[in-house]
This record gives sequence, structure tokens and C-alpha cells, in this order.
Amino acid sequence: MKFYRGMQVKHLSYFRANSLFEDFMLEDKNPARTELSKLGEFGLIKHIAEHIKLSNPSSVKGIGDDAAVIKYDDGKQTVVTTDMLLEGVHFDLSYCPLKHLGYKAVSVNVSDIYAMNASPKQVLVSIAMSNRFSLEAIEELYAGMLLACERHGVDLVGGDTNSSRSGLIISITAIGQADKNEIVCRSGAKPTNLLCVSGDLGSAYLGLQILEREKKIFMENPQIQPDMEGNDYLLERQLKPEARKDIIAQLGENGVQPTSMIDISDGLASETLHLCTESNVGCRLYENKIPIDEVAMLRAQEFNLNPTMCALSGGEDYELLFTIDIKDHDKIKKCKDVTVIGHITEKAEGANLVLTGTEMLTPLTAQGWDALLKR
Ligand code: ADP
Ligand code: MG
Repeated sequence: MKFYRGMQVKHLSYFRANSLFEDFMLEDKNPARTELSKLGEFGLIKHIAEHIKLSNPSSVKGIGDDAAVIKYDDGKQTVVTTDMLLEGVHFDLSYCPLKHLGYKAVSVNVSDIYAMNASPKQVLVSIAMSNRFSLEAIEELYAGMLLACERHGVDLVGGDTNSSRSGLIISITAIGQADKNEIVCRSGAKPTNLLCVSGDLGSAYLGLQILEREKKIFMENPQIQPDMEGNDYLLERQLKPEARKDIIAQLGENGVQPTSMIDISDGLASETLHLCTESNVGCRLYENKIPIDEVAMLRAQEFNLNPTMCALSGGEDYELLFTIDIKDHDKIKKCKDVTVIGHITEKAEGANLVLTGTEMLTPLTAQGWDALLKR
């Protein structure tokens, strides 16, 4: 992978060489640069709209009027969520290609819809950027967004376009639907419920550590090309997270209705505490049950980081954390890529982590992992 400063360098050889990023190959040739000022705001919106087709019956009218028209008349409830991504805060364009950024921006929003046990149907995309970006750059961003939309069966039905003097800003609103009795909130966990998580945790954080390390080396000596060997999975987890549509589908197929659910954007500890607080319960989470990828384990050690800490406090995994009634234990075993990591207790017992080996309990906190670091 070559780092690129702003929009200057177009070669992303690392991604090209990597089949995981097949959908994300960029053109080899140095594409022409079309200034946004040539199109103007309305020209740009028209250009964006030309690439967009609506597929959901509920998307009655998309881009082009004062508002989109959405029609949900099948007795379902509507869920709405919005998230902002700010350059310099949430992403760094020196190592995050725009197509990946677009994909991630949509993924993190639909992840919130899945966390309600609902299906995403529409998104609205608002962007603010400076003239540093060309039309081709914005096309890359939208190509990534539209790829994620396609994968999740979502229509892009509108947005807003502005100029920014402080970097790129992307704000996405996602709309979805679910049956009233299917919607899962953070507040329904009960003592004896099992605490479950999808996928594995901590990899996105380690991917970020690798990117930051290689950026630092590159900045100090631009002759040295970044060494990303063997880190495909971790980088993909950071740059191109997948919202877990498949987990929601499996829960439905196996007749499991979670009692509470949240998606993991800030780390397992923080999200578990949210579930406990909102549900007025405690929990016991087993350190040795937390799913962590093998390569993530190795890289954590290289960075002198505790892998459990990466899972608990790293964040950006976009996996689903949920609780189920204990009677659904056999059903959850049939769901692929789901791990039972603990159980819910009475509130008075507190939210605790059971440390591997010692079986000692340590209170779960969103920061400050003294107990883990000292071992
Ligand atoms: P208004 O002045 O009423 O805000 P706009 O000119 O901003 O109207 O938007 C016109 C149409 O284009 C609307 O349908 C809006 O949702 C859509 N739109 C504007 N910006 C974007 C964007 N960045 N991406 C997608 N749709 C957009
Ligand atoms: Mg507008």
C-alpha cells in the first residue's frame, strides 16, 4: 500500500494486490481531475443522482425534490438513526481511500438499524468538502457508499451538499423498518439471560494501530513503503467494516428474539455497560470467552497491548452484542459466528469481568484496565 497525501497519489498497490479488496480496486491510470467548481452544487447533485437507482418499493421518490417520499403502509414501525464522520476525528485520508470511507460511512449507519433488529431501507447522505476534492474523488466516495447500499438492500434517497473549510464531513441518516414486536432495545436484558456477541473483537483497533505506525514511518521517510504483510484481515476490519445483516437474518431464521441489543462501536466494555445501565441489571463477562482473531492476538503482543483490552476498549468492530433468554441456548448454538461470552445478573452484583486463570472478578469499566495491564 502506498500512502497518499490528500488526493495526489492514486496508486494503492496494497489494495490492488489483495483479493479481499476486489471490489475496491482503483483505476491504475492517473484519472483526469475535474474541478467541482466546474459543476457547481446543483451540477454535482445531478451527477450524483445519475448514478443512483431506487430498488425498494418503500422508496417512492428519491433525489431531486425538496424531500424524499417514503411509503411504509404495512403496519411496521420505522427506525431512524444518524451518524457523522469528521476528517481528522474519525478518519485520516492519508491511509483511508475514499471508496472505503464511503463504504464504512454507510456500514456504520445501517449497523445501528440492525442493532434494533430492523432492516435498513433508505439512507440520506450529507457531505461538506473543500475544493481540495475533485469530481473523481467524490465519485469514489459515492461508489463505496453505493456498494454498501447494494449489499444491504438500501436506497440512497437524498442528502445535502455544502462546502467545508475544515476537512471532509459526512453525515448519514439511515431509515429502516421492523414489526413492532420484533424491535429490540437496549433496555430488555433480564438476570439469567445469556450475553452473546457476533464475530470477533479488537481487530479494527489493531488495524488502526498498524495504519498509524506505518503512516509515522512513511512521514519520517517517504522512501520506505509501508509493510502490511499478513495484516489483511485487521486492515479490512478497520477500513471496511461489515454491518451484520447476516446475524439478524440468522436470529430470525432460528426463532431467536434477543431481549436487548446494541452494536459495538466504542468497545465491548462500553457497550456492555450501556446494556446493563439501560436494563437495570449487572453482568458477568468471561475474559476467556471473548472471541479474538489469532492474528489480532499476535499483533497485540507486538504492540505490547493486552488483546483483551483491545477487545474491551478498542471499538469500531461493528459487531452485535445482545442478550437472549436462557431457553434459547440451543437455538443460538445453530447461529454461525455467535459466541456466548457471559450472562446477566442482578444489578446489585455489578457488571464484572471474570479474569482468565485466576477466576477473579474485576469491575467492568469503559477505561483504565489496570487489572489487565498488570498481569
Ligand atoms: P434544498 O435547497 O431544498 O436543500 P438541495 O439542492 O440541497 O435542496 O437538494 C436537492 C435534492 O438533491 C434533494 O432531493 C436532496 O435530498 C438531494 N441531495 C442534495 N445533496 C445530496 C447529496 N450530497 N447526496 C445525495 N443527494 C443529495
Ligand atoms: Mg440542501
